[in-house]
Amino acid sequence: MTPLRSAWVEVDLGAIARNVSALKALLQPGTMLMAVVKADGYGHGAEEVGRAALSSGADRLGVATVEEATRLRAAGILAPLQLLSEPPIAAASLVVEEALIPTVFTRATAVALSQAAERAGTSIPFHLKVDTGMNRIGVDAQDAAEFALSLQELSGLQLEGVFTHFAAAEVIGDWEFERQLERFQSALEALKANRVDPGIVHAANSAAAILHPESHFGMVRCGISVYGLHPGESTHSAIDLEPAMSVKARVVNVRRIGMGDGVSYGHTFRAAAPTTIATLPLGYADGVHRVLSNNMRVLIDGERCPQVGRVCMDMLMVEVPRGTEVRVGDEAVLVGRQAGQELRLDELAEAAGTINYEMACAFSMRLERVFR
Ligand SMILES: *Cc1c(COP(=O)(O)O)cnc(C)c1O
Repeated sequence: MTPLRSAWVEVDLGAIARNVSALKALLQPGTMLMAVVKADGYGHGAEEVGRAALSSGADRLGVATVEEATRLRAAGILAPLQLLSEPPIAAASLVVEEALIPTVFTRATAVALSQAAERAGTSIPFHLKVDTGMNRIGVDAQDAAEFALSLQELSGLQLEGVFTHFAAAEVIGDWEFERQLERFQSALEALKANRVDPGIVHAANSAAAILHPESHFGMVRCGISVYGLHPGESTHSAIDLEPAMSVKARVVNVRRIGMGDGVSYGHTFRAAAPTTIATLPLGYADGVHRVLSNNMRVLIDGERCPQVGRVCMDMLMVEVPRGTEVRVGDEAVLVGRQAGQELRLDELAEAAGTINYEMACAFSMRLERVFR
């Protein structure tokens, strides 16, 4: 429980550890696992999740930004930290100082990183990003070998790995996935033909790690699955995952309202009969998207109670049906379990018209986290 607020996120680090073990069990011995903890561990807390993942078998952590990586270093995490995109050139020295493993796909970044390493009297590992069809970042697959060869003269850089990223790994039988894999294989062959050792080869995100063993290569990069969430419908039957995040709050007000009385801004809800309204101290500034207004449920006293009226910035209201006990101070559950009932993050994401990835990130905006 958090002393300063009556709304909080609970993160079950045991679930994180079990999810990592379940993912490891899908891999051939020797295949590495990168736990992706960008965006503060998809809203779960990068430091704590990172530690739990590393101690249950993850080989390294992946982040998006230099700042995310330096925070993990400041927290005392010494494991390999990989940046999944190119750092800004201005951050080259910091990348070297903090021993981060950068992604590289442009010559300018490569030169800046190499010079920073040389200034520090060292050379640093990097991973070459190959774009095989996501059309986001990376060197084009057919240019990968030539680009890698051109970087060999940079004495501050050593190629540690080569990777790509899939656009639709969760879609079973997707031919674009097959084409990406083929383009990646051709790029790897071209590297080998030019006597460039690609080092650690990796391509798979959670969906590919779970559904496509042929894409595992030397390492997989798992994010959403580490948190116990599925990247899509297709993976549910392939692996058991345990959601690690719960979202809870304590009731701060209970009132009876009469027939026809409205609730919250704009009175978008009006009581059809006298009813009980409970107020919870969290709102859209905590990640409960306003679009969920009148379109989500909350567990109170083990009952799925409808949320009513517009979700406010800091509060939302719930209609408590007759027969359900509610008092100020009672625990309400927006995501997670209560008395044998469960509300899944996935349901909330679907109601909000988004995906579990974004919903989980949203809960990190302001809510305090409690680890167990
Ligand atoms: C975020 C990210 C991942 C993790 O994807 P999940 O679907 O969450 O497993 C893997 N690789 C890259 C390059 C990413 O940006």
